[in-house]
Amino acid sequence: MQDTFGRTIDYLRISVTEACNFRCIYCAPNGHSDPAASPLAIDEIERVVRAAVALGISKIRLTGGEPLVRRDIVNIVRAVAAIGGVQDLALTTNGFLLARLARELADAGLRRVNLSLDTLRRDRFTKITGVDAFDAVWQGIRAAEDAGLAPLKINVVALRGVNDDEFADFARLTVDHPWHVRFIELMPVGTSGAASEFFTRHFIAASDIRTRLPELDRASIHGNGPARTYRLPGAPGTIGFITPASEHFCNACNRIRVTARGALCACLFGERGTDVRGALCEGVSESALQDLLARAIGEKPERHPLGDDYSIDAGAMSEIGG
Ligand code: SAM
Repeated sequence: MQDTFGRTIDYLRISVTEACNFRCIYCAPNGHSDPAASPLAIDEIERVVRAAVALGISKIRLTGGEPLVRRDIVNIVRAVAAIGGVQDLALTTNGFLLARLARELADAGLRRVNLSLDTLRRDRFTKITGVDAFDAVWQGIRAAEDAGLAPLKINVVALRGVNDDEFADFARLTVDHPWHVRFIELMPVGTSGAASEFFTRHFIAASDIRTRLPELDRASIHGNGPARTYRLPGAPGTIGFITPASEHFCNACNRIRVTARGALCACLFGERGTDVRGALCEGVSESALQDLLARAIGEKPERHPLGDDYSIDAGAMSEIGG
């Protein structure tokens, strides 16, 4: 389906829980806001995906919070994978529980995972996430590879004064492994003053990250704009940049999101969203559900306000679904 700005919307991200087993310093250092909020049930997720697929969506990503803390995550994957028209099913995870679940998830129909990893140093990992889990995450990466969840993408949030001395180490991973390392610019999400202070102190623009990676001068470039990726000579993996703040890529945005509480957000930083769960609870018909989604897609804004000195009045990414 096309939105009013001519963008083809074919990608749905569903947050399956707000809960997370990490307390990342830039996301939810004090935990998520409402642990009691119940997430969408499997049958609700299934209905939303079916309606989205009927509108032309073919790529689904499960996210959170941390999707693997949901006890029924394998069943969710199986249910979504079984929906005809779902061509690509992926999941974003911090990897902590992946060693245990990778094989089952792959068998249930998951194709690939994006894994968030902001440091390669054990002690620093604990400081960033609040959990001594570096080894467990590394085992999770291995398990994902063994289970064929490929290609593996590793998301690194770039943080001045926290991990900016490790960018070259991350880049080198792509020489030794067929992994796609993506540096993500910190986003000023969260309502608290502390969140915006954190942003001011730790934000690094992608252009600055590049200058810290002189290796990229020897790299080949693939794609343009938001999709631009670099490959070091002989490397099986690639290096990319996700730049929501410095070079927004809204004109190529192909996605919508459903939060764990069942709100459909056409833009990551849009308004509170359309209450899909409310409609489901009221027994909305299949076609009315499709209409609801189509209307929300139709209202997708042309661009998000990041980078315009705009304060983002949203919850943490764990609430919106990163
Ligand atoms: N728990 C899963 C994980 O760790 O990947 C999925 C949810 S997490 C909210 C999704 C992604 O959002 C992670 O890569 C995380 O680093 C990123 N993220 C969270 N807060 C962010 C922020 N303020 N700026 C940029 N990225 C952020």
